[in-house]
Amino acid sequence: MNDVRNVIIIGSGPAGYTAAVYSARAELKPLLFEGSVTAGGALMNTTDVENFPGFPDGIMGPDLMGNLRKQAERFGAELIADDVVEVDLKADPKVIKTYDKTYYAKSVILAMGSGYRELGLENEKRLSGRGVSWCATCDGFFFRNKDIVVVGGGDTAMEEATFLTRFGRMVTVVHRRDQLRASKIMQDRAFANDKIRFVWDSEVVDVLGDTKVEAVKLRNIKTGEESELATDALFLAIGHDPRTELVKGQVELDENGYIKVAHPGTATNIDGVFAAGDVVDHIYRQAITAAGTGCSASLDSERWLASNE
Ligand code: FAD
Repeated sequence: MNDVRNVIIIGSGPAGYTAAVYSARAELKPLLFEGSVTAGGALMNTTDVENFPGFPDGIMGPDLMGNLRKQAERFGAELIADDVVEVDLKADPKVIKTYDKTYYAKSVILAMGSGYRELGLENEKRLSGRGVSWCATCDGFFFRNKDIVVVGGGDTAMEEATFLTRFGRMVTVVHRRDQLRASKIMQDRAFANDKIRFVWDSEVVDVLGDTKVEAVKLRNIKTGEESELATDALFLAIGHDPRTELVKGQVELDENGYIKVAHPGTATNIDGVFAAGDVVDHIYRQAITAAGTGCSASLDSERWLASNE
């Protein structure tokens, strides 16, 4: 076998590109698979990112990812805009396949991210970053003294709604049932907050607005009645799914499908396989934490390669 890479990185978000920058600067000549459709990761779907350190005036999500990509390329990382569709991580060397080619690597960094669940509304994508958001920590600040709608009934939804009352004039939680799934303590906290009100038995069937969110269309599930509710923001807190289908049955996953690593390191249960970013992390889910663990994964793989030489 003549072309065995030191390290192959799967995923092109902040975690993957950061791992590529570090591995390239360590002269490991990394190869990174970006994905065929969504190269650049979750931040390609947003506008202003104001909490990534080093940008005092903020930066647009796609610009930040374009910069990270350029930085990885500058040090010689090889980037391929293709999907990895099959892996054998227990083999030696490890096998990575796209639809039409097979690659081999001594070590692998998994950085496939996670997908936020969407409602599937016609205007949801169009207004993403323009009032539609999946992250209160990221975007709450933009809605000071504004009206906010939160969709969801679990712990995350209650946490996001409570957090958003720091900014919003009023936070309306829209939930499909007449009671919440959230733990009692989170419910009590939300019920006690006079800036949160609830619309029960209802779903959001459309989000309206030309260049930014102006209203949501609601449908009462019991009566079928439709109504419009004016709002400046729609926060979706209906869950997220790690992209781990590819490694299921090989890498150990937790009960929610996230990759298990030996915290505070990034090693998985398979020797020479490391994981970083949102595919591991269901707690912080930030660009900077993904970039941070991408750095750790690169350093871990570099040390692993050195000790296995
Ligand atoms: P991702 O960014 O999800 O990237 C993973 C990439 O890997 C994707 O491009 C995917 O297509 C690719 N991939 C997956 N599987 C394969 C495969 N088999 N082959 C090849 N490629 C593959 N965070 C902040 O800190 N500040 C913000 O302002 C902010 N705003 C956000 C706004 C939106 C709309 C969203 C959705 C998220 C936002 N976040 C923000 C969260 C942040 O984007 C994520 O925490 C971060 O992008 C996670 O990085 P990651 O590298 O782990 O994964």
